[in-house]
Amino acid sequence: MPKGVYERTEYHQEILRNLPQRFKKGSIPWHKGTKGLIKGYWKDKSMTEETKRKISNANKGKKRTEETKKKIKESNYWRGKKRPPFTDEHRQKMSEAQKGRIISPETRKKMSEATSGEKNWRWIKDRTKLKKDNRRNDPAYHVWRKMVWERDGFKCKINNSDCKGRIEAHHILSWRNYKELRYKVNNGITLCHYHHPRKRVEVEKAIPRFKKLITKIKT
Ligand SMILES: [Zn+2]
Repeated sequence: MPKGVYERTEYHQEILRNLPQRFKKGSIPWHKGTKGLIKGYWKDKSMTEETKRKISNANKGKKRTEETKKKIKESNYWRGKKRPPFTDEHRQKMSEAQKGRIISPETRKKMSEATSGEKNWRWIKDRTKLKKDNRRNDPAYHVWRKMVWERDGFKCKINNSDCKGRIEAHHILSWRNYKELRYKVNNGITLCHYHHPRKRVEVEKAIPRFKKLITKIKT
């Protein structure tokens, strides 16, 4: 905005008068005493047709640079659409932005309470279900594991200088999602502790590689 006296035309003043509740210095904000996002606040708030027309008229003849036009176009593109997931680069940037952020112990506590216990998305209501799926006390699982180890000669199938730790039997297609393959020796692979993937993403990524390693063996 240029320095100096900014003269508003009668037109502008009228528009401003019609805008919903302008913020005046020292006045109480409309959201005082409320917490978090106020759901549906904007839902019923709409400009009157008259206000819209006035704003539109005021904007007429306004020269926008090509760049501004492009930005407006881009920001409108996602209106009402589901956005794609964040890119790794974007995630990195968001993470960087959070670094050095100071959160008061009080806020920290509140944040923790909001996602702990029953409120957590991983909260399991019926814990008896967990026990049922525990392979450690399943004799068939122990037999399967031994058969996989035997086939692989009790050695990690990746078998390189990184190998570390005891051997483990890994389900190539997951225990959780492929119940029918739980005791199939061909769905197992012997890996050392180091090469045993644990994160779901890593497990999925490794499927073709492990399958290849297995097909090389005559069973
Ligand atoms: Zn290994």
